[in-house]
Amino acid sequence: MSPKKLLPIVQLGDPVLRHVGRDLTPAEIRGAEAKALIERMRETMRKAPGVGLAAPQIGLGLRLAVIEDQASYVEEMDPEERAAKERDPVPFHVVINPRIEILDRTPVRFFEGCLSLAGFVAVVARARAVRVRCLDHAGKPRTIEAQGWYARILQHEIDHLDGVVYVDRMEPRTFMGSDDFAHHWGGEPVELVRAALDAARLPPER
Ligand code: ZN
Repeated sequence: MSPKKLLPIVQLGDPVLRHVGRDLTPAEIRGAEAKALIERMRETMRKAPGVGLAAPQIGLGLRLAVIEDQASYVEEMDPEERAAKERDPVPFHVVINPRIEILDRTPVRFFEGCLSLAGFVAVVARARAVRVRCLDHAGKPRTIEAQGWYARILQHEIDHLDGVVYVDRMEPRTFMGSDDFAHHWGGEPVELVRAALDAARLPPER
């Protein structure tokens, strides 16, 4: 297989997205296979395009994810929206065998999507800041402290390694197609959308 060939992204329904991934061994991390895998995951994420891709999303039950929030994605955003989301560019990096800890539990609500539920978005409350202890591409221990959108990306990707997908955490009444989101709600503040959808309310059980 050519190293440039993109990897197919599995969609919700594939059991691999519901399994807890296993840690990589030091030998695996140093191996040529992991190097090639990371390279192909990077190309696949960029092409999608996305800001993160976890190994289960390409069918592998491993605790590995790639992350990159490119400056070009961030710079084209409305400055007010960007500030509200606390979104800054994040250089490409790999997260291997991560353990996550919440630093600031303040729930931050925004719409998010997932390459494994292509074409949909929903509001998900995420902790504002997290600390992640993991290994980098070379197997070196690394501690990441992140806030805002980067913290959201880390929580989303590390959830994948635990078999968790954003629909497990979303506000169900805000779930919608991304085209309809853009058509009906694009540019509206999330609190206004939540209120209009009555997102906080679930009808009582009958
Ligand atoms: Zn995802």
